[in-house]
Amino acid sequence: MRVGGPAKWLLYPADRTDILAMVRHLNDSGIPYRFLGNGTNIIVSDEGVKAALIRITKMTRLAFEKTRDGAIAEVGGGYPLARFIRECAKRGLGGLERLYWIPGSVGGAIKMNAGSFDQSISDTVIGMDVLTARGEIIEKAVKFEDFGYRVSPVGRQECVIAGRFRLRTADAEDLEQQMEYVYRERKERHPMEYPSAGSVFKAAKGRSAWWFVEKAGLRGYRIGDACVSEKHTNFIVNMGRARAADIAALIGKIKEEVFSKLGVTLEEEVELWGFNG
Ligand SMILES: Cc1cc2nc3c(=O)[nH]c(=O)nc-3n(C[C@H](O)[C@H](O)[C@H](O)COP(=O)(O)OP(=O)(O)OC[C@H]3O[C@@H](n4cnc5c(N)ncnc54)[C@H](O)[C@@H]3O)c2cc1C
Repeated sequence: MRVGGPAKWLLYPADRTDILAMVRHLNDSGIPYRFLGNGTNIIVSDEGVKAALIRITKMTRLAFEKTRDGAIAEVGGGYPLARFIRECAKRGLGGLERLYWIPGSVGGAIKMNAGSFDQSISDTVIGMDVLTARGEIIEKAVKFEDFGYRVSPVGRQECVIAGRFRLRTADAEDLEQQMEYVYRERKERHPMEYPSAGSVFKAAKGRSAWWFVEKAGLRGYRIGDACVSEKHTNFIVNMGRARAADIAALIGKIKEEVFSKLGVTLEEEVELWGFNG
């Protein structure tokens, strides 16, 4: 969203040995820590975050192993999701093409069970290597049922070091066309021209959240430079010099109005970091 204050520590582990050592040191020192992917689903307060942030963007190994009807891909949690999807498409491997243009990392997408256009990460992910809160890396098998709507079996103190995906053979040209379709649709429907954190609220009562925001009459509603997008009312956009406090106030206002006018409690899909001390 192009807002937010500083992080006191930002750590980039080079490999598994490195991240294990970092977490052990932080645990021993009593310093709280969190894992940061590409930061596309997070709004950081103007004061910043006190926890140490660990970013695994250097952990990007990518390998494919052929199977009878496709391949198993193993990919580092720090790998950019869109690039991973392009690498799959180039090899004629499908299953993730409709998630193209979600701007996060593979680890962030697994944690959030990212999804779009009727496809979600949980459709193809079959396993992951997870750094646990106890400071060890374990291999974990997962299945579709372990995930929910924007919910995954990854805990807040856990890090997805690598993901394993079962992909099926598909026509490379067809995959390209689907990715192109997704891009065109997004460009038309989403305010891609302004900084945002994607959808602010989760769907509620079987309806997309934009419907409630729209019904509450908040299209274009503005606090400072934070604005409910005219193009898509589940997006808050930064029109220029928004502060994180403006965005947080706007989120509060939307929830209040939707509840008082429609009796529905909206729940944030975005994460707010550093707002409670
Ligand atoms: C323009 C725009 C469009 C978007 N469209 C969509 C969409 O269509 N569908 C959708 O689902 N989302 C969408 N998003 C939201 C966001 O891109 C996704 O949630 C994405 O998966 C977040 O990935 P990230 O790497 O940026 O994670 P971050 O924002 O950095 O982190 C999100 C959460 O994941 C955790 N996390 C990050 N990396 C790891 C890791 N390796 N291991 C464990 N936990 C980790 C963080 O601690 C945090 O809790 C959109 C965002 C934007 C800005």
